[in-house]
Formats: sequence, structure tokens, C-alpha cells
Amino acid sequence: MAPFNQYPKTYRALPRASLDPAHLRNAKDGAHREWHHVLMADLLTGVLWMELKALDPIHVGSGSAELIRVGGKESLVRGIVYERGGYFIPGTSIKGVARSNHEALAGGCDLDRNCDPPCPTCSLFGQIASRKQLMGRVGFGDALPVGRPGVGLSRLPRAFRPRSQVGRRVYGARVDERADVPYLVIKAGTLFSLPLELANVRPAELAMVLAAMGVGQGFVPRYGGGKFGGLGRIQARPSKAVLRRSARDLRHVHVEGAKMKSLLAQWMKQLRLAPGGDAAMRVLKGVAI
Ligand SMILES: [Zn+2]
Repeated sequence: MAPFNQYPKTYRALPRASLDPAHLRNAKDGAHREWHHVLMADLLTGVLWMELKALDPIHVGSGSAELIRVGGKESLVRGIVYERGGYFIPGTSIKGVARSNHEALAGGCDLDRNCDPPCPTCSLFGQIASRKQLMGRVGFGDALPVGRPGVGLSRLPRAFRPRSQVGRRVYGARVDERADVPYLVIKAGTLFSLPLELANVRPAELAMVLAAMGVGQGFVPRYGGGKFGGLGRIQARPSKAVLRRSARDLRHVHVEGAKMKSLLAQWMKQLRLAPGGDAAMRVLKGVAI
């Protein structure tokens, strides 16, 4: 068994794009600041519903051990988050992964407390800076399972515990070393519904957020715990949207089916990675097969 403080074999460092100069030019005109308070025409405001499909078992840890009955026998397991009468994936778990990948693809500041004007990532996901706070324009609700999810146990190798922070990590296939620590998991194949709340988001910005979640990019990100052990791949697909027509027209448009598909294609056409973002994309595609 590998010592705790060594990188597992599946570890890959995820490189980060640099800031696109065009973003700074746009930010200087002050437009970004206004977007948080006033609804702008031609920008997307509303809710985009994503259908999430677990390709692997999912473990979002509750941080506590639980005694549960599995197969007629009591087992001590690492518990998962549970609320409102069921298991779910907290929006923060999804946002964290999306933000991390977004930083890599869009040239974010990597949580620099002095990020000003806000980088593309802070501008969308929000920022707690040394001098101010900025509300995000993309909100992640909790992903609730469609129906009652099946749960099971996964036995994983011991977790990788670096002694110090080692930067952004992504993982490939599972490490084949087992240890006697069962994780309670939501079973692979479970479907979830995730609301993405949009406030004055440009289609190109939304395309980057969706790309960070793997939409249309040929990779599937891992969420939650046990990534090193092959848990957590979740495929995301926009399924429907309720969008405000414009700043002046408060009526909503409902989009789904073929309309959703063509609107999504229009958004994704506007995707433009920041300089160096292609290297991050290659790593994401290479490890999350
Ligand atoms: Zn930033």
C-alpha cells in the first residue's frame, strides 16, 4: 500500500489558463458591476434545469460515521448528506467542481483576495475579496434525485492525504488498493435535477460554465468524495429553461425539447477558452474517461 503522503497513480495536475486581455478591457468599462443590480436586455436571467446522471456511485460525505443495516447486517459506514427526507447532492459540491474547472478553462484568479476588477470566474461565481464581496450571477441549487435513489456501500483504498496543499487535482480511473473503510454511496445510474439560477449572464459566459461541467466537451467531471477511488462521475445535460424575455418584458419563456437543444447549441457556439485553457481541457478529457 502506498504511503498516505504520496500522490496516487491517477493524480493529474490541472493547468490553468491565463487571463484573457479582452476580459480586462470589458471589465474596465464598469459593465460587470452594474449587472448585479439591474436586469439587462439580451442577457440570460432565469433558471436552467440540468439533468444529472451518476455514471459512478456518488459519495458526498456528511462527515460522520453512521451505523446502518445493509444486507441484514449492521455496518459502520462513512455517511452521506441527508436532508428533507432523502439523499441529495448539495449545490455547493457541484459549484466547487464547476468553479475549479472554470478557473482552469477561463483564466480565473484562483481565489486571489485582491482580484479586482473581478476575473471571469469571480464575476460569475462570486467573490469574497479583502475589500468587498461580490454576489455570483450563476447560482447552484441542490441536486435532488428523481425518485428514491438506491444506496449501497463502496470499499475504497485509503484516501490521499497531502501534508500541505498541492493545488487543483483531478483523477482518472480508480486506484486498485483496497482498505476496510466502506463509504455509503448513492448508486450509479441515479438521475438528479439541478437548478442553475442565472442573473444577467452572457451566452458566452454560460457556455464556459457548462463546459466546466463537461457539457459537450467529451469529459465527465467527478463530484463528492472518493474521486481517487473511482467514485463521482456525473454527466450533466441542460433539460429545460425558464428565461425572462428581456429587462423590459418580465414575461417568461419556457424552453424544452428540440428548442432547448437548438438554444444550447447557440450558446455553446460562443465558447472561447482563455489563452492556455486548451491545455486544461486536454487534461480534463484525458483523465475523466
Ligand atoms: Zn477572481
